[in-house]
Amino acid sequence: MSALNRREFIAASAATLAISSAGKLVAESPKADASGQNKTWYSSMLRCGQVNFNEQDPLTMNADAWMDYWASLKVNAVMLNGGGIMAFYPTKVPYHHRSEFLGSRDLFGDMAAAARKRDIRVVARMDCNFAYEEAFQAHPEWFQYNADGSPRKHAECPWLYATCMFGTYFTEQMPAIYREMNQSHAPDGFYTNGWPSTGPLEVCHCLNCQKIYKEKTGGVPPEGTDAGSAIYRRYYDVSMDRIAEIWSLWEKTAKEGNPNSVYVGNLGGGIDTVKNVKRLSEVAAWFNADNQGRRGNTPIWECAQQGRVARSVMDGRTVTNVVGSYSNSSINWRHSAKAPAEATMWAAQAAASGMAPWYHWLGGQPQDNRWRENGRVFFDWLAANQTHFRNRRSLANLAVLYPQSTIAFYGSDGTRTRKLNRTTIDQTDYLQGLYAALLEGRFLFDFVHQENLDAATLKPYRALLLPNAAYLRDSECEAIRDYVKSGGSVLATFETSRYNEWGVQREDFGLSDLFGVSVAGEVIGPFGNSYMRIDQPHPILEGFTGTTTLPGPEFQSTHHSFKK
Ligand SMILES: [Zn+2]
Repeated sequence: MSALNRREFIAASAATLAISSAGKLVAESPKADASGQNKTWYSSMLRCGQVNFNEQDPLTMNADAWMDYWASLKVNAVMLNGGGIMAFYPTKVPYHHRSEFLGSRDLFGDMAAAARKRDIRVVARMDCNFAYEEAFQAHPEWFQYNADGSPRKHAECPWLYATCMFGTYFTEQMPAIYREMNQSHAPDGFYTNGWPSTGPLEVCHCLNCQKIYKEKTGGVPPEGTDAGSAIYRRYYDVSMDRIAEIWSLWEKTAKEGNPNSVYVGNLGGGIDTVKNVKRLSEVAAWFNADNQGRRGNTPIWECAQQGRVARSVMDGRTVTNVVGSYSNSSINWRHSAKAPAEATMWAAQAAASGMAPWYHWLGGQPQDNRWRENGRVFFDWLAANQTHFRNRRSLANLAVLYPQSTIAFYGSDGTRTRKLNRTTIDQTDYLQGLYAALLEGRFLFDFVHQENLDAATLKPYRALLLPNAAYLRDSECEAIRDYVKSGGSVLATFETSRYNEWGVQREDFGLSDLFGVSVAGEVIGPFGNSYMRIDQPHPILEGFTGTTTLPGPEFQSTHHSFKK
């Protein structure tokens, strides 16, 4: 590290640099080599583009002009709307709704041909989450139902019905559409918008789900998603298994047409994930993060953080991140360009954290074209410097445990928040706080998913940081002990290891022996306006001069007594 100057050091803390033994920047990942991933067309992909069609686009969309634009960005692949909710090619699959304005045009085919003429790969963007009334009338068993028996509809478009992943829409109808497109257009891959996502699970009460839950969980579908309920826990596992089964089926279906084809689902969510990204990575050849930009109080570093989450489970395989070129703030202006600095900052973080940026515009007839030049400038730079973005290894010497079970299930009321003393604590706060401190300290760190705590994964790191990893398996506690025995250091905060992966409280910390501490009382708080008095000097108090008190902790233990 001493060989790096400050500027290089700052760059290294944002990016995973690739440095060979000779100190030269080199290409490609050894892990990817070992898994054969470099043989796939998408393993070397560094730039992608997407224009999302609207229903009227078949009337006017100019395929050559659009592909001239994407070629000017030197993209390796484009995502183009194929079908699902709405077909943009002349489909013959029953109940596969065609765009009303398609006429005799094959818009997907025109755009795909224009892309291929320019050596750009084509991924068909599909929608599997909703279908039209005609499908609902013919196949009511394809759809989700509420507990009262009513079909579930799209919140903004009530003419669309939500499909159920446990039904044959996912195992028969979507594969029929993929097969038709394999025959007619042979895309290089399929991508599903909106599915599976990494967000909370939805509980469906269709007849099919009732049957599955009776057989697999021994109960009825749970009312809500409460990790405290035994039925929910079985439901979570059944749901994750089904997602993996569908992902694998669609991957297999994609490859029927072309062995080099691929299926990629919609993931993302930054650090806030409920679905098990480790489990998803076991079936995913490519992780796409639909994480398009900042909104509300999203931290400015969130895109690179997304890269760390994805890399913690993908072991060198392809990761992409959708970058909204339109204004996707907490009020969406879908047809206005985002400020150039904002979009560039997001795309740069995607590239720096090991993801390929996927630049995204909505609609084939933009009135606002300011986003185009902005994308061209950044993608030009990325293409000119692409050697430096084929990463060989991470330089990080610190590992931060990505505490997915805690983030997904912390709190007993199923809301994934802890409500104590009428204050709601966000379950991602603990990781976010540590993350901010590490960035400000210019430390080099990677995320390690809690289910990846094996000796080989932890070997490069001198310390493992556990930001309130409250929910840990016994086997994960054991792996942390082994890491310390082999010379690693551990820093843990708050309730780390107090519960098993589902939130069942242990009598003592699972890592009580390692920490040399035991539970003395229950957690109470959060408290404001509490203080700690400095009684005597100590090295950790260095720098705290001019005060005899410091702010007290938010959470305390019942075994203490407090002076008001
Ligand atoms: Zn269902």
